[in-house]
Amino acid sequence: MFEYAPAPESRSVVEIKNASGLYIGGEFVDPADGGSFKSINPASEEVLAEVAEAGAQDVERAVRAARKAYDKVWGPMPGRDRAKYLYRIARLIQERSRELAVLESLDNGKPIRESRDVDLPLVAAHFFYYAGWADKLGHAGFGPNPQPVGVAAQVIPWNFPLLMLAWKIAPALAAGNTVVLKPAETTPLTALLFAEICQQAELPAGVVNILTGAGDTGRALVEHPGVDKVAFTGSTEVGRAIARSIAGTRKKLTLELGGKAANIVFDDAPIDQAVEGIVNGIFFNQGHVCCAGSRLLVQENVADRVLESLKRRMAQLRVGDPLDKNTDVGAINSAAQLERIRELSDAGSAEGAERWSPPCDLPDRGFWFAPTIFTGVTQAHRIAREEIFGPVLSVLTFRTPAEAVEKANNTPYGLSAGIWTDKGSRILWMADRLRAGVVWANTFNKFDPTSPFGGYKESGYGREGGRHGLEGYLNV
Ligand code: NAP
Ligand code: MG
Repeated sequence: MFEYAPAPESRSVVEIKNASGLYIGGEFVDPADGGSFKSINPASEEVLAEVAEAGAQDVERAVRAARKAYDKVWGPMPGRDRAKYLYRIARLIQERSRELAVLESLDNGKPIRESRDVDLPLVAAHFFYYAGWADKLGHAGFGPNPQPVGVAAQVIPWNFPLLMLAWKIAPALAAGNTVVLKPAETTPLTALLFAEICQQAELPAGVVNILTGAGDTGRALVEHPGVDKVAFTGSTEVGRAIARSIAGTRKKLTLELGGKAANIVFDDAPIDQAVEGIVNGIFFNQGHVCCAGSRLLVQENVADRVLESLKRRMAQLRVGDPLDKNTDVGAINSAAQLERIRELSDAGSAEGAERWSPPCDLPDRGFWFAPTIFTGVTQAHRIAREEIFGPVLSVLTFRTPAEAVEKANNTPYGLSAGIWTDKGSRILWMADRLRAGVVWANTFNKFDPTSPFGGYKESGYGREGGRHGLEGYLNV
């Protein structure tokens, strides 16, 4: 393998503000009763900023600001005018995309190639797409005059900080709701920059409120009685706790939770293409992807060939500095997540699966985990059942399509699946039988704002994206 010279993206496009405060009612304010915490760069452990932590009084203030904006400005505003603000936000995101991408990579650890070429274009696309719906809600299939729900409390995880924000805020605003959003504790910085963009777009005060903080802030927000709708993306465990806490209230709820997707490769698949899809499926974003193809199901008669190509391809992956434009796999988002990946991987070895990683030099500082595969995995192994949420692939084999379906569905989750075959009729046959919200055929991890995304079973309920994504934000 040949060596590349380092090609780091410049950080000078970003000015990181220390202690910028909470974004409530259109202004950055100091927390009334919260404290503060630090957000670090997981690739270097450098402290990037001290961030305000919202307490109960701040939640109260933010919900009140959102209610006022809903009653006085945003609720009564004609859809065509709401659309103008959303288009303006979308354009500002495009204009400032380099700044946003660099900040996302710094705070999250994901490769700049991904934040620049995947996250940011999709973030802008979501705002453009939902801007288009704002004056056409009566044509979305929810009756002639569907009404917004009111104030939405939105809590998001750290794996796609800005993209998850866009998935939440764009449809909510298009449908006429106002929002209070809590980003994840380890990745609050792009949400704060987004708040500046809301100011720049002259979005009316209180339509978007951003409360930085940890799990307690999230809990106080979703439990606040002034909230009409809760939208949560995160772990199944926290999703369950939220569903319990708001049961019996009038609040509407959508949950986007974990996954354990099967990526299924048949013997007639174009193997080189499938190997690219396997790599993209599990090593994209360090495997911190709810719909990651974390279980490879490969047909037994091609398993050796697929694994040989896969290992050769994995040896080419460049792990390291997220800001380097040649980096394929960046840093693990936090020490806690690294610990969880290590623990589950050790369990894989202890339970008898065979572990393999390509030789790779990991940086001394920061949180890193080499791309890893486990072969000889059985369905009873923890690495085949539990979500690892890291760059770790479990490989299982199958003989017949029926066996592939049975193994793929043998999971408490049901978010996504991939099928690799030359045969169109088999794709349809499989897709009918797979219990997964999204099924990709001869591709993986493809996203588009027009396409609904969401789960079955313990992967949650409700859909984000597309016309369906409006439903959770409308009284229908
Ligand atoms: P998490 O612990 O559930 O956290 C998600 C968010 O909820 C964070 O903002 C978190 O704050 C907050 N939170 C924690 N406890 C809370 C509580 N009791 N009440 C309200 N909010 C609370 O999940 P994570 O570990 O950060 O994210 C990984 C998980 O998200 C994975 O399981 C993954 O599959 C899932 N995910 C699903 C999708 C999807 O669309 N289906 C997309 C991305 C991720 P802190 O950050 O401060 O803990
Ligand atoms: Mg961080």
